[in-house]
Amino acid sequence: MEKIDWKNLGFNYIKTPYRYLAEYKDGEWSKGTLTEDNVLHIHEGSTALHYGQQCFEGLKAYRCEDDSINLFRPYENAKRLNRSAERLRMPLVPEEMFVEAVKEVVKANEGFVPPHDSGATLYIRPLLIGVGPNIGVSPAPEYVFTVFCMPVGPYFKGGLTATNFIVSEFDRAAPMGTGAVKVGGNYAASLQPGKEAQERNYSDCVYLDPATHTKIEEVGSANFFGITADNQFVTPVSPSILPSITKYSLLYLAEKRLGMTAVEGDVYLDQLDQFTEAGACGTAAVISPIGGLETGNGFHVFYSETEVGPVTTRLYNELVGIQFGDVEAPEGWIEKI
Ligand SMILES: *Cc1c(COP(=O)(O)O)cnc(C)c1O
Repeated sequence: MEKIDWKNLGFNYIKTPYRYLAEYKDGEWSKGTLTEDNVLHIHEGSTALHYGQQCFEGLKAYRCEDDSINLFRPYENAKRLNRSAERLRMPLVPEEMFVEAVKEVVKANEGFVPPHDSGATLYIRPLLIGVGPNIGVSPAPEYVFTVFCMPVGPYFKGGLTATNFIVSEFDRAAPMGTGAVKVGGNYAASLQPGKEAQERNYSDCVYLDPATHTKIEEVGSANFFGITADNQFVTPVSPSILPSITKYSLLYLAEKRLGMTAVEGDVYLDQLDQFTEAGACGTAAVISPIGGLETGNGFHVFYSETEVGPVTTRLYNELVGIQFGDVEAPEGWIEKI
């Protein structure tokens, strides 16, 4: 194995030796197997290629101090994959099959799970795609479920820092479209606004609710949260937001561990003054503090353009501590490999 510089990993594709592959034909899943082939051979008529009939997940494996390996709430990813599959008329992947596939892949690539103190993790990507001969707009005759993984660095190499974001004029999803499921189509729609934001030196863009463009919905490919002066942890609620497992974990931790009031409600763009801190959260982003937000109507600074607020810091330490096995986890949150 090539020596990996754990401290300088980014979020890039790295080939690890093994991936899991199962095929769905004639109404049933084949027994999944591990393979070393990282190229998919699929039919040119596959619906995943033409009509975006595909969905995915993202989760991480964490190396603990005692060298054991943690998965963080993988059954939540299994459930969400199936909600995505249902929305796009794809077959469900049994939850046990999903979690077993993830565990097998992590075990088989164990040498690529970064050391505890590196801050790096093993990123795991489950993927479900429609394949087989098809040209009309209808669900595919067959499906492939695959799980692959690679080591990735911490989102912030120099520790937690705040960065700036900009509100996009584009929508990533329609009001009753596919915003609430993890499908590639939402990401295709986000590439242009995301690039435009980065070209203007913002970390990413913030999407407003597609029906009225008055409320905050998503932060790039992460969920938004705000902290109020009276100790509330607030996240937006909408049928076009992707329900982040990290977000629901933070809602729980804010209430049970930090004694805050956890609120899911509307976050109006013209009421940002209520927040003393704000951030983005997700598996990849972990917790990314939002320094300032260009709203199109002015630049709003939350806690500080560079410094991280005290509540965000406490939430980050609690969440990451649980994931890496340094802080006691709520019942059922950790699956050992
Ligand atoms: C995956 C994803 C998130 C984060 O969800 P987690 O379960 O916390 O990783 C947020 N927004 C979008 C659009 C996503 O696809």
